[in-house]
Amino acid sequence: MTSPALPGWSAAAADLPARFLDRRRPTPVPDPYLVAWNPLMAADLGLGVDPGDLVATLSGNLLPPGVAPHAAGYAGHQFGTWVPELGDGRAITIGALPGRDHVLREIQLKGSGMTRWSRMGDGRAVLRSTIREYLASAAMAGLGIPTTGALAITGSDLPVYRERTETAAILTRVSPTFIRFGTFQWLASLGEREAVRQLADTVIERFFPALLALPVDERHGAWYAEVVARTARLMAAWIAVGFAHGVMNTDNFSIIGETIDYGPFGWMDHYQPGLVCNHSDWQGRYAFDQQPMVGLWNCSRLGEALYPLVSEPAAVAALERYHPTYEAEVIRRMRDKLGLITVDGTDADLISDFLDLMQATGADYHRSFRALSRWDADLAASREALIAAIPDGGRLDAWLARYAARLANEPRPAAQRHAAMLGSNPKYVLRNWVAQDAIGNAETRNFAAVDAVRALLDDPFREHPAFERFAAGPPAWAREIVVSCSS
Ligand code: AMP
Ligand code: MG
Repeated sequence: MTSPALPGWSAAAADLPARFLDRRRPTPVPDPYLVAWNPLMAADLGLGVDPGDLVATLSGNLLPPGVAPHAAGYAGHQFGTWVPELGDGRAITIGALPGRDHVLREIQLKGSGMTRWSRMGDGRAVLRSTIREYLASAAMAGLGIPTTGALAITGSDLPVYRERTETAAILTRVSPTFIRFGTFQWLASLGEREAVRQLADTVIERFFPALLALPVDERHGAWYAEVVARTARLMAAWIAVGFAHGVMNTDNFSIIGETIDYGPFGWMDHYQPGLVCNHSDWQGRYAFDQQPMVGLWNCSRLGEALYPLVSEPAAVAALERYHPTYEAEVIRRMRDKLGLITVDGTDADLISDFLDLMQATGADYHRSFRALSRWDADLAASREALIAAIPDGGRLDAWLARYAARLANEPRPAAQRHAAMLGSNPKYVLRNWVAQDAIGNAETRNFAAVDAVRALLDDPFREHPAFERFAAGPPAWAREIVVSCSS
């Protein structure tokens, strides 16, 4: 069955040759209903329709005409261990729609049933995990960080068995491509050198078109260097916004440098560089402060998969640029957070001492930077607000004296600095407890609560007085939330 009233759909570009795909339709669910819907993303995709009309499509029950749904294979290193075949075990790309920029976006239904790669899984996702991914995607986008998009969640009362019986939900994910580092690793491990080259050329043509100006023999090396650089900048962005991904396996790394596959992620509450947000990560491999190193490790594994398309000297040169690119981006972002527009050799120390101060006092990362954004040496109330976040007056005043001296060399007037800092230091991030609050509401059928949080996260730098409580650290009931891979 196909759906009549949906213009604009096309078959998703077959980035991979057919033998690496599973041409498979979603498995229908009983009586689907709409849980969440992102109207701005919908409008961008030309879906300015009543979302009710789309429930059948987005649940996988009724496909648009002319599409050719598929799941794709990939491999990857999971927690450092090579897994020779993974693939979309519960995600099916149903087709593609152009955005306003005319770039095609793949529309993927995560949780839409079994595929060739489901292994022991049921092909489903639960309401809880789709809400976490939906909200995290919006939060990242709101912070201006590359991410896959989330258009909608549909639900069904179909039971899904995890640690307890839950219900099924399907997340509509949106991205120009879902090709991962692990896609290249899979093809390379199969000895499919020609397929590696073809996929690289397709990815370059579609997503790195500027590189087409280079001579053919330089193109692949330059492309790999650009993927490495995007990854380094993405890691810097995560660190600056206090985000830990939780499952940085190479199959969860996007070839276009988007954040992808939100599972047991976490945004910091109190600043804790060793934060391990994934309860299943008992070794702390993916701890918050390990992320830059893991990003480099993953890029190295990609480089191996691309050999000999990318020569060893070219790969080494690209990897040697990773740390300088990361460092430049992270300090640029941290200078923004401190409101500094000039460069001073002491900035790195000023930043790391502020982080140390937050860590030592158990201060909330986001509230501290938010309070600092309004701090003015002449305004006693602004110091009080900062002290409320960082409760060690002596150390705080000593640090503020250095900060004030540094600010004295800045050409920008204080009022402009405050405004810019409020635009760099979000008031709202997706704290685990906020996600949990939305999940609790949705599980009692108050679905509107999910899009209320999503709208807040679309615009995280402004004050939203009605949602003030979501800017706070976890309430007592939420202090011990643990998030595992179960989803
Ligand atoms: P993730 O941890 O979400 O990145 O998933 C790792 C791998 O497990 C991917 O290949 C997923 O498609 C697969 N997977 C996760 N959950 C399920 C499930 N319920 N059914 C089938 N495959 C799954
Ligand atoms: Mg994954």
